[in-house]
Amino acid sequence: MIEPLLETRDLCKNFGALQATDHVNISLVPGEIHALIGPNGAGKSTLVKLIMGSEQPSSGSVHFAGADITDLRRPERARAGLGRTFQISSLAMEHTVLQNAVLGALGRSGRVMRFLWPVMSDKALVAQAEQALERVGLADHRGALTGELSHGQRRLLEVAVALTLEPKAFLMDEPMAGLGAEGSARMTEFLDRLRQEAPILLIEHDMDAVFQLADRISVLVYGRVIATGTAAEIRANAAVREAYLGE
Ligand code: ADP
Ligand code: MG
Repeated sequence: MIEPLLETRDLCKNFGALQATDHVNISLVPGEIHALIGPNGAGKSTLVKLIMGSEQPSSGSVHFAGADITDLRRPERARAGLGRTFQISSLAMEHTVLQNAVLGALGRSGRVMRFLWPVMSDKALVAQAEQALERVGLADHRGALTGELSHGQRRLLEVAVALTLEPKAFLMDEPMAGLGAEGSARMTEFLDRLRQEAPILLIEHDMDAVFQLADRISVLVYGRVIATGTAAEIRANAAVREAYLGE
Protein backbone atom coordinates (compact mmCIF):
# COMPACT_ATOMS: atom_id res chain seq x y z
CA MET A 1 0.00 0.00 0.00
CA ILE A 2 1.40 3.38 -1.04
CA GLU A 3 1.43 5.96 1.74
CA PRO A 4 -1.43 8.43 1.14
CA LEU A 5 -0.47 12.06 0.61
CA LEU A 6 -3.90 13.21 1.78
CA GLU A 7 -6.31 11.43 4.07
CA THR A 8 -9.50 12.22 5.96
CA ARG A 9 -10.28 10.22 9.08
CA ASP A 10 -13.90 9.89 10.18
CA LEU A 11 -14.59 13.40 8.99
CA CYS A 12 -17.99 14.70 10.11
CA LYS A 13 -19.71 18.02 9.50
CA ASN A 14 -23.11 18.90 10.89
CA PHE A 15 -25.15 21.92 9.88
CA GLY A 16 -27.71 21.93 12.66
CA ALA A 17 -29.56 18.62 12.38
CA LEU A 18 -28.15 17.93 8.91
CA GLN A 19 -25.13 15.66 8.69
CA ALA A 20 -23.43 16.94 5.52
CA THR A 21 -20.48 14.54 5.86
CA ASP A 22 -20.72 11.44 7.98
CA HIS A 23 -17.49 9.68 9.04
CA VAL A 24 -15.81 10.16 5.67
CA ASN A 25 -12.54 8.26 5.17
CA ILE A 26 -11.00 9.12 1.85
CA SER A 27 -7.40 9.14 0.67
CA LEU A 28 -5.30 10.41 -2.19
CA VAL A 29 -2.09 8.61 -3.15
CA PRO A 30 0.71 10.01 -5.35
CA GLY A 31 0.04 9.84 -9.10
CA GLU A 32 -3.69 9.18 -8.91
CA ILE A 33 -6.91 10.86 -9.84
CA HIS A 34 -9.51 9.95 -7.23
CA ALA A 35 -12.97 11.00 -8.34
CA LEU A 36 -15.70 11.80 -5.87
CA ILE A 37 -19.17 11.43 -7.29
CA GLY A 38 -22.65 11.59 -5.83
CA PRO A 39 -26.00 13.34 -6.26
CA ASN A 40 -26.54 17.02 -5.51
CA GLY A 41 -26.45 17.70 -1.79
CA ALA A 42 -24.38 14.55 -1.08
CA GLY A 43 -21.70 16.61 0.69
CA LYS A 44 -19.00 16.77 -1.98
CA SER A 45 -18.34 20.51 -1.79
CA THR A 46 -18.50 20.39 2.01
CA LEU A 47 -15.82 17.70 2.02
CA VAL A 48 -13.56 19.86 -0.16
CA LYS A 49 -14.11 22.83 2.19
CA LEU A 50 -13.24 20.69 5.21
CA ILE A 51 -10.04 19.52 3.52
CA MET A 52 -9.09 23.06 2.47
CA GLY A 53 -9.97 24.59 5.83
CA SER A 54 -12.74 26.95 4.76
CA GLU A 55 -15.07 24.93 7.02
CA GLN A 56 -14.12 23.32 10.32
CA PRO A 57 -15.23 19.71 10.95
CA SER A 58 -17.61 18.78 13.77
CA SER A 59 -15.30 15.81 14.40
CA GLY A 60 -12.60 13.79 12.66
CA SER A 61 -9.30 14.88 11.15
CA VAL A 62 -7.46 15.75 7.94
CA HIS A 63 -3.90 14.53 7.31
CA PHE A 64 -1.60 15.85 4.61
CA ALA A 65 2.01 14.98 3.80
CA GLY A 66 2.44 13.17 7.09
CA ALA A 67 0.98 15.88 9.33
CA ASP A 68 -2.38 16.45 11.02
CA ILE A 69 -3.59 19.69 9.40
CA THR A 70 -7.06 19.79 10.99
CA ASP A 71 -6.21 22.88 13.02
CA LEU A 72 -4.37 24.76 10.27
CA ARG A 73 -6.12 27.71 8.70
CA ARG A 74 -6.84 27.89 4.99
CA PRO A 75 -3.79 29.96 3.92
CA GLU A 76 -1.51 27.67 5.92
CA ARG A 77 -2.94 24.62 4.15
CA ALA A 78 -2.43 26.31 0.78
CA ARG A 79 1.18 27.06 1.71
CA ALA A 80 1.64 23.44 2.83
CA GLY A 81 0.81 22.43 -0.76
CA LEU A 82 -2.94 21.93 -1.04
CA GLY A 83 -4.26 23.51 -4.22
CA ARG A 84 -7.86 23.87 -5.25
CA THR A 85 -10.16 25.11 -7.96
CA PHE A 86 -13.67 26.22 -7.13
CA GLN A 87 -17.16 25.23 -8.24
CA ILE A 88 -17.87 28.96 -8.50
CA SER A 89 -15.26 31.12 -10.19
CA SER A 90 -12.98 33.18 -7.98
CA LEU A 91 -11.54 35.15 -10.89
CA ALA A 92 -11.79 38.92 -11.16
CA MET A 93 -13.39 39.50 -14.56
CA GLU A 94 -12.21 43.12 -14.85
CA HIS A 95 -8.54 42.14 -14.46
CA THR A 96 -6.37 40.68 -17.19
CA VAL A 97 -5.48 37.01 -17.44
CA LEU A 98 -1.94 37.73 -16.26
CA GLN A 99 -3.15 39.87 -13.35
CA ASN A 100 -5.38 37.06 -12.11
CA ALA A 101 -2.50 34.60 -12.37
CA VAL A 102 -0.17 36.96 -10.49
CA LEU A 103 -2.75 37.38 -7.74
CA GLY A 104 -2.93 33.60 -7.58
CA ALA A 105 0.84 33.39 -7.18
CA LEU A 106 0.44 35.80 -4.29
CA GLY A 107 -2.25 33.57 -2.81
CA ARG A 108 -4.90 36.28 -3.14
CA SER A 109 -8.16 36.50 -4.98
CA GLY A 110 -8.60 39.34 -7.50
CA ARG A 111 -11.91 40.06 -5.84
CA VAL A 112 -10.24 41.43 -2.72
CA MET A 113 -7.43 43.49 -4.28
CA ARG A 114 -8.06 46.77 -6.01
CA PHE A 115 -4.59 48.18 -6.53
CA LEU A 116 -2.46 45.91 -8.64
CA TRP A 117 0.60 47.92 -9.65
CA PRO A 118 2.73 46.97 -6.61
CA VAL A 119 2.32 43.24 -7.27
CA MET A 120 2.59 43.54 -11.05
CA SER A 121 6.08 45.03 -10.65
CA ASP A 122 7.29 41.94 -8.75
CA LYS A 123 9.30 40.15 -11.47
CA ALA A 124 9.48 36.80 -9.69
CA LEU A 125 5.71 36.68 -9.18
CA VAL A 126 5.05 37.65 -12.78
CA ALA A 127 7.46 34.98 -14.05
CA GLN A 128 5.74 32.35 -11.90
CA ALA A 129 2.34 33.44 -13.25
CA GLU A 130 3.54 33.41 -16.87
CA GLN A 131 4.90 29.91 -16.48
CA ALA A 132 1.54 28.67 -15.17
CA LEU A 133 -0.29 30.33 -18.08
CA GLU A 134 2.13 28.67 -20.47
CA ARG A 135 1.34 25.27 -19.01
CA VAL A 136 -2.42 25.53 -19.51
CA GLY A 137 -1.99 27.03 -22.97
CA LEU A 138 -3.12 30.57 -22.14
CA ALA A 139 0.20 32.42 -22.55
CA ASP A 140 -1.01 34.13 -25.74
CA HIS A 141 -4.02 35.53 -23.85
CA ARG A 142 -2.04 37.06 -20.99
CA GLY A 143 -3.11 40.62 -21.86
CA ALA A 144 -6.80 39.82 -22.45
CA LEU A 145 -9.47 40.82 -19.97
CA THR A 146 -10.63 37.76 -18.07
CA GLY A 147 -14.26 38.66 -18.76
CA GLU A 148 -13.55 38.30 -22.49
CA LEU A 149 -12.34 34.70 -22.24
CA SER A 150 -14.54 31.78 -23.20
CA HIS A 151 -15.93 29.70 -20.38
CA GLY A 152 -13.43 26.92 -21.13
CA GLN A 153 -10.51 29.35 -21.09
CA ARG A 154 -11.65 30.71 -17.72
CA ARG A 155 -11.69 27.20 -16.30
CA LEU A 156 -8.12 26.71 -17.54
CA LEU A 157 -7.16 30.05 -16.01
CA GLU A 158 -8.53 28.86 -12.67
CA VAL A 159 -6.27 25.84 -12.92
CA ALA A 160 -3.33 28.11 -13.79
CA VAL A 161 -4.07 30.26 -10.74
CA ALA A 162 -3.95 27.15 -8.56
CA LEU A 163 -0.75 25.98 -10.31
CA THR A 164 1.13 29.17 -9.43
CA LEU A 165 1.45 27.95 -5.84
CA GLU A 166 3.00 24.66 -7.07
CA PRO A 167 0.66 22.43 -5.06
CA LYS A 168 1.55 18.89 -4.01
CA ALA A 169 -2.09 17.83 -4.37
CA PHE A 170 -5.18 19.25 -6.05
CA LEU A 171 -8.83 19.44 -5.09
CA MET A 172 -11.03 20.28 -8.03
CA ASP A 173 -14.72 20.99 -7.72
CA GLU A 174 -16.40 20.40 -11.08
CA PRO A 175 -13.69 21.65 -13.44
CA MET A 176 -15.70 20.45 -16.46
CA ALA A 177 -18.91 22.26 -15.46
CA GLY A 178 -20.37 24.16 -18.39
CA LEU A 179 -17.62 23.15 -20.81
CA GLY A 180 -18.56 21.96 -24.25
CA ALA A 181 -17.15 18.79 -25.80
CA GLU A 182 -13.97 20.52 -26.94
CA GLY A 183 -13.36 22.26 -23.62
CA SER A 184 -13.93 19.03 -21.68
CA ALA A 185 -11.52 17.19 -23.95
CA ARG A 186 -8.81 19.80 -23.37
CA MET A 187 -9.36 19.80 -19.62
CA THR A 188 -9.37 15.98 -19.53
CA GLU A 189 -6.10 15.85 -21.42
CA PHE A 190 -4.55 18.42 -19.09
CA LEU A 191 -5.67 16.66 -15.88
CA ASP A 192 -4.40 13.37 -17.25
CA ARG A 193 -0.89 14.85 -17.44
CA LEU A 194 -1.17 16.85 -14.22
CA ARG A 195 -1.74 13.76 -12.04
CA GLN A 196 1.92 12.74 -12.43
CA GLU A 197 2.96 15.93 -10.73
CA ALA A 198 0.23 16.26 -8.13
CA PRO A 199 -2.59 13.78 -7.44
CA ILE A 200 -6.11 15.13 -7.88
CA LEU A 201 -9.27 14.70 -5.83
CA LEU A 202 -11.78 15.34 -8.57
CA ILE A 203 -15.42 16.19 -8.03
CA GLU A 204 -17.15 15.88 -11.35
CA HIS A 205 -20.63 15.27 -12.76
CA ASP A 206 -19.33 14.47 -16.25
CA MET A 207 -19.28 10.68 -16.02
CA ASP A 208 -17.45 10.22 -19.31
CA ALA A 209 -14.57 12.29 -17.91
CA VAL A 210 -14.73 10.49 -14.55
CA PHE A 211 -14.65 7.02 -16.06
CA GLN A 212 -11.89 8.04 -18.44
CA LEU A 213 -9.64 9.72 -15.85
CA ALA A 214 -10.19 8.22 -12.44
CA ASP A 215 -7.88 5.57 -10.99
CA ARG A 216 -10.35 5.27 -8.13
CA ILE A 217 -13.89 6.49 -7.63
CA SER A 218 -15.67 7.08 -4.34
CA VAL A 219 -19.43 7.48 -4.20
CA LEU A 220 -20.90 9.83 -1.63
CA VAL A 221 -24.61 9.63 -0.78
CA TYR A 222 -26.19 11.63 2.06
CA GLY A 223 -22.74 12.43 3.44
CA ARG A 224 -21.52 8.83 3.47
CA VAL A 225 -19.04 7.04 1.24
CA ILE A 226 -21.05 4.03 0.08
CA ALA A 227 -18.33 2.59 -2.19
CA THR A 228 -14.73 3.12 -3.32
CA GLY A 229 -13.18 1.26 -6.24
CA THR A 230 -11.99 1.29 -9.82
CA ALA A 231 -14.31 2.45 -12.60
CA ALA A 232 -15.18 -1.18 -13.39
CA GLU A 233 -15.92 -1.95 -9.74
CA ILE A 234 -18.10 1.12 -9.34
CA ARG A 235 -20.04 0.41 -12.52
CA ALA A 236 -20.73 -3.12 -11.30
CA ASN A 237 -21.66 -2.11 -7.73
CA ALA A 238 -25.36 -2.78 -7.12
CA ALA A 239 -25.72 -0.27 -4.26
CA VAL A 240 -24.15 2.46 -6.39
CA ARG A 241 -26.37 1.73 -9.36
CA GLU A 242 -29.41 1.91 -7.16
CA ALA A 243 -28.45 5.02 -5.18
CA TYR A 244 -26.82 7.06 -7.85
CA LEU A 245 -26.82 5.79 -11.39
CA GLY A 246 -30.59 5.40 -11.15
CA GLU A 247 -30.86 1.77 -12.21
P1 ADP B 1 -22.76 18.69 -2.99
O1 ADP B 1 -21.54 19.51 -3.27
O2 ADP B 1 -22.51 17.22 -2.99
O3 ADP B 1 -23.90 19.04 -3.91
P2 ADP B 1 -22.84 20.19 -0.51
O4 ADP B 1 -21.61 19.80 0.21
O5 ADP B 1 -22.86 21.50 -1.19
O6 ADP B 1 -23.27 19.02 -1.52
O7 ADP B 1 -24.05 20.16 0.51
C1 ADP B 1 -24.31 19.04 1.36
C2 ADP B 1 -25.50 19.37 2.24
O8 ADP B 1 -25.12 20.34 3.21
C3 ADP B 1 -26.69 19.97 1.47
O9 ADP B 1 -27.88 19.47 2.06
C4 ADP B 1 -26.52 21.44 1.70
O10 ADP B 1 -27.77 22.10 1.63
C5 ADP B 1 -25.94 21.49 3.11
N1 ADP B 1 -25.07 22.65 3.35
C6 ADP B 1 -23.92 22.93 2.70
N2 ADP B 1 -23.35 24.05 3.18
C7 ADP B 1 -24.17 24.48 4.19
C8 ADP B 1 -24.13 25.59 5.11
N3 ADP B 1 -23.12 26.46 5.08
N4 ADP B 1 -25.14 25.70 5.98
C9 ADP B 1 -26.15 24.81 6.01
N5 ADP B 1 -26.25 23.75 5.20
C10 ADP B 1 -25.28 23.58 4.29
MG1 MG C 1 -21.08 20.92 -4.81
